Amino acid sequence: MKIILIDTSAFINGYNFYQNKSIYTVPNVKKEIFNELAKLRYENAVLSGYLIEKNPTREYLDQIEKIIEVAGETELLSNTDKQILALALMFKSNENEVEIITDDYSLQNLATLMGIDFKSTITKGIKKVLKWIIYCPGCKKTYNKIPIDGICVICGTQLKRKPKK
Ligand SMILES: [Zn+2]
Repeated sequence: MKIILIDTSAFINGYNFYQNKSIYTVPNVKKEIFNELAKLRYENAVLSGYLIEKNPTREYLDQIEKIIEVAGETELLSNTDKQILALALMFKSNENEVEIITDDYSLQNLATLMGIDFKSTITKGIKKVLKWIIYCPGCKKTYNKIPIDGICVICGTQLKRKPKK
């Protein structure tokens, strides 16, 4: 099943809900919407069943913290961003295809590092090319995405990233 997740930025930029049924988000997103009209749109989408609020479990939030440690973007991500990513991970672990709708640059960056698809509401059709190499300082294995827990599957060392040349 394909799951679509939407974050605050996509919501504020006026993502059109009524083209897809069952779009997921985390309840925290509502707290980040200060525009009254946007808030109403949010509530209507929930009431009509187009938007489903769901919280990730602690297990997946912990995994996101470990992945962020490798990615090194801790300071740029809000709690809501982390919850969105954890929810994405949760759905992915249950064999779902996941796509995040977001206009937030650091969230897009993390999604790329995690191998999760994303779409932007503003820039159409541009997918960022991964400009980082994830590698293991222990056994030198490289990864094209950060695995769960952010550790090397071969030797268990905490992974790092470096810019791609
Ligand atoms: Zn290793």
